[in-house]
Amino acid sequence: MLPTRIPGLVKRLYHSLTWDLYNCTDSVFLTFDDGPTPGVTKQVLDILKAFDALATFFCIGRNAERNPELISMIRSAGHIIGNHTYSHLNGMKTRNRDYYNDIQLARSFTPSELFRPPYGMISPSQIKHLKKQYTIIMWDIMSYDYDPAVSREKCLDNVITSVRPGSVVVFHDSLKASEKVLYALPRVLEFVKEKGWKGSPLRLPIRGRERKDCEC
Ligand SMILES: [Zn+2]
Repeated sequence: MLPTRIPGLVKRLYHSLTWDLYNCTDSVFLTFDDGPTPGVTKQVLDILKAFDALATFFCIGRNAERNPELISMIRSAGHIIGNHTYSHLNGMKTRNRDYYNDIQLARSFTPSELFRPPYGMISPSQIKHLKKQYTIIMWDIMSYDYDPAVSREKCLDNVITSVRPGSVVVFHDSLKASEKVLYALPRVLEFVKEKGWKGSPLRLPIRGRERKDCEC
């Protein structure tokens, strides 16, 4: 399994991607991939609301097309939507033209200038091309809520042992992850609250981590 926390070497190697916003002193950036999902996304929204937290949803275009009412709920609650391709494609296994077309198709249902590559897999040429139009958001901490080998307690532990102000944390509002995300999320938010931090959405413009002018 990959590490829960992304090593600094990887971040430096792919420095044109956004991995974290460590210049933020009081915000944690929770992100939810692969929705919207009936029966899951609404519960995630309810938990976020109970803690007065905002977040970012990297929706699959196909799911957004099927569930426009969930997209409206996400938006009207003040959360941010991001593009996660239409078909959840692996960039490394997809021809560039097909990859870009799929992202463009998703744009109709998830209009956003934020993009997260499914599986975190994206080639240097795709990065170069997509950077013209998108801010590419990776992550600092992976909860592994989607992994059947990870218990819900371990999923929670993965986040709270590593989270810090500026962290970008990955959860999934998918059926596969639902039991774990619904267990871990309120506990993570409780932890965040106790620390005096807040859950914030990824609002553009996103500043480089070296800069000290974060607007979160
Ligand atoms: Zn995904």
